[in-house]
Amino acid sequence: MSATLIDGKAVAKRIREELKREIEALKAQGIVPTLAVLWVGEDPASGVYYRAKQRLAEQLGIEFRGETLPRDIPEAALLERIRELNDDPEVEGIFVEFPLPPQIKPEAVRAAIHPDKDVDGITPVNLGKLLIGEPGLIPATPYGVMELLKASGVELRGADAVMVGRSEVVGKPLALLLLRADATVTICHSKTRDLAEHTRRADVLCVAVGRPKLITADMVKPGAVVIDIGLNATEEGVVGDVDFEAVREKASRITPVPGGVGPMTATIVMKNVVEATKRLRGLPTAATAPTAPTAPA
Ligand code: NAP
Repeated sequence: MSATLIDGKAVAKRIREELKREIEALKAQGIVPTLAVLWVGEDPASGVYYRAKQRLAEQLGIEFRGETLPRDIPEAALLERIRELNDDPEVEGIFVEFPLPPQIKPEAVRAAIHPDKDVDGITPVNLGKLLIGEPGLIPATPYGVMELLKASGVELRGADAVMVGRSEVVGKPLALLLLRADATVTICHSKTRDLAEHTRRADVLCVAVGRPKLITADMVKPGAVVIDIGLNATEEGVVGDVDFEAVREKASRITPVPGGVGPMTATIVMKNVVEATKRLRGLPTAATAPTAPTAPA
């Protein structure tokens, strides 16, 4: 039987409706959540994400302060601009589009953003908080995956979860979140000796690599939940890392690409903007972020 599709568009829409209500309540108190997005060199690879955030912020009532900076901007000038935004009391969220030109070290940018305004959870402070289980701002794509798993009613406690990919933005933080939800987590990467041996054991298989059809049906356990985070531009359009048509016949639930994880990311950035706004203003925040282990039944 074909797997049930995990509909990222529908889950993202529900979260956006909740956010709209929260933003209206903030505005009623005279608070306008504001997101600053820095786009260096107008890199076409990030333009689509920059514009998606702009559209979504405007739809939700978040003030969007987009800035395009020249491709040859010196690193020191970019870091100075970030520090100005850190000190700007009218800005609650800061997002720097990646990739950056070669003169700018990504780690310098990560370290420069104030952790309380770090709406993609990329600073060492927020990643450290994720590691030790303190509330912080959580990287948007992994947070979005956890929301999809929650909305689909997937039981993570005790489940064998396999994360393929170990990047700082997706693989590692998602592995930590799965661990936080009491899954037994295996992390695979390019040096993993027998990838299929690991993936075949997964009750929950998450893939963030960037290689079309890396995961074929013979690598998937019957009934597994498959979360495909990959986005690959091919002649047939955008595809994920999973051989979708074959794997959907074996999995119990699966995210399509497009329409699965993708629609969640920008929505979760906005959720983080609202979260950051509330924390910075000393307002109570909903304890919905996937930071705590699931309570024992
Ligand atoms: P990345 O930084 O390039 O990391 C890729 C990871 O895949 C690395 O850890 C690498 O291992 C591993 N890998 C490479 N070849 C492999 C193989 N043959 N077997 C097992 N692992 C392998 O990429 P990323 O930023 O995490 O992004 C991954 C994918 O997700 C991309 O397609 C990206 O476009 C997509 N993405 C989607 C969203 C969304 O909103 N849906 C958001 C972010 C990223 P090593 O560490 O050993 O090199």
